[in-house]
Amino acid sequence: MSNHFDLIAIGGGSGGLSTPEWAAHYYGKKCAVIESKALGGTCVNVGCVPKKVMWFAANHAHNLHTARDFGFDVTNNGHDWQKLVKGRQRYIDGILNWYDSFMDDLNITHIQGHAKFIDAHTVEVNGKRYTADHILISTGGKPFVLPVPGADLGITSDGFFELQERPQHVCIIGGGYIGVELAGVLNALGSNVCLTMRTYDEDFIPHFDCTLREVLMEEMVKAGIRIEPGNSTIDSLTKEEDGSLTLHWGNGEKLDGFDAIIWAVGRSPNIDGLDLDAAGVEYDERGFIQTDEYQNTNVDGIYAVGDVTGRMALTPVAIAAARRLADRLFGNQPERKLDYNQIPSVVFSHPPMGTVGMTEQQAREEHGATVKIYQSRFSPMAYSLSEHKVDTALKLVCIGVDERVVGCHIIGDGADEMLQGFAVAIKMGATKKDFDNTVAIHPTSSEELVTMR
Ligand SMILES: Cc1cc2nc3c(=O)[nH]c(=O)nc-3n(C[C@H](O)[C@H](O)[C@H](O)COP(=O)(O)OP(=O)(O)OC[C@H]3O[C@@H](n4cnc5c(N)ncnc54)[C@H](O)[C@@H]3O)c2cc1C
Repeated sequence: MSNHFDLIAIGGGSGGLSTPEWAAHYYGKKCAVIESKALGGTCVNVGCVPKKVMWFAANHAHNLHTARDFGFDVTNNGHDWQKLVKGRQRYIDGILNWYDSFMDDLNITHIQGHAKFIDAHTVEVNGKRYTADHILISTGGKPFVLPVPGADLGITSDGFFELQERPQHVCIIGGGYIGVELAGVLNALGSNVCLTMRTYDEDFIPHFDCTLREVLMEEMVKAGIRIEPGNSTIDSLTKEEDGSLTLHWGNGEKLDGFDAIIWAVGRSPNIDGLDLDAAGVEYDERGFIQTDEYQNTNVDGIYAVGDVTGRMALTPVAIAAARRLADRLFGNQPERKLDYNQIPSVVFSHPPMGTVGMTEQQAREEHGATVKIYQSRFSPMAYSLSEHKVDTALKLVCIGVDERVVGCHIIGDGADEMLQGFAVAIKMGATKKDFDNTVAIHPTSSEELVTMR
């Protein structure tokens, strides 16, 4: 077998599987994927997929409560974490098996091992060299841990997915989407959860619309999650004589009594041992590979997609950029590229929230007085018979005389499934009038989005 390929992808995650898939399937190209761990990368093994399974489990825990209010005689006799974890792994194994046959069917060569560049067209894996006309860097990201004394006493999201028992007292450091998602899951399944961050203003799901941030904070607190800003930097983690863990803030304050501390303070690019310098590929001070809008790096024939580029770290973004790259390189579509504007995304918090386009604040900064906001907050009908209610809030951000909808923000049950269709409309340039002209589906929460005054 020749070791020369039309395309080699380094990293077999969401992005790295997608350019070869398109290149082989549509354009008959000879491709290889080099993967050092498991095919599927972060999303399938330690990201979206196992996270969503845990989120569903948490939803079932919530539904048990509501079911009683609808007349069911439900007694919760506990939850079997190990059964959940085993089931989750079975589901992932099914996806991994499917990858093997998918690679075989498309004649994509799977090279198992860690790749490093020798030069701009050559990579080495386990001492063996492979060359390609085109090389894609799709090595993703890894959890970031603050370099403080005792940092290793904490685990990361990767470690969370390895837990064979549910920790009873948990501290999660970081108010980004991974932090709030894990907090919601652990809380629903019975742990005492403390979510901590430096400050609310800067670190609680930053970059999201103020309404979503406000409602999520309220609902998390209502659900029993302790949210504790440290107002300081983290000094260290320590293990006490009784085995419990303590987080020490730089201002002398501490949070203690935990069985587990989870770092969720961000992710950094995965370029370890890749030897980008051997190929002359440029990266910024944090290690993110710089690309232009066509995913080109500074070196001809070398491209990057996905989390390693530092642009919108989401699976569908990596996939979309990767497939468009294949169309451009092999499908005679020189202008094909991903438009990174108005990309919808969901946080699988409890309740979930979805967002697309500009926040109210961004719109006001950019469009000033022409901004018009429509919003609504209510207790959805699903909780009509319950004492415990979880609010839904919806917001449309419109600009100009024609009130073009440039932002849509939803928090509440079903937000995760509601947003996709509205994202299509917004991407197509829908105005508030188009929303008003759409007949509502009743009785639903999403109907509020086409009936707001
Ligand atoms: C906890 C968590 C939850 C998430 N939830 C969601 C979600 O709900 N929705 C969503 O859209 N996104 C989610 N994400 C983000 C999503 O997983 C990533 O955006 C996506 O996986 C990025 O794909 P990628 O191809 O860039 O990298 P990855 O999927 O990370 O793949 C990179 C691969 O490269 C391999 N690799 C690295 N270096 C080398 C090397 N030198 N040689 C060979 N192989 C190498 C790695 O082993 C890895 O398998 C989540 C992430 C996390 C951590």
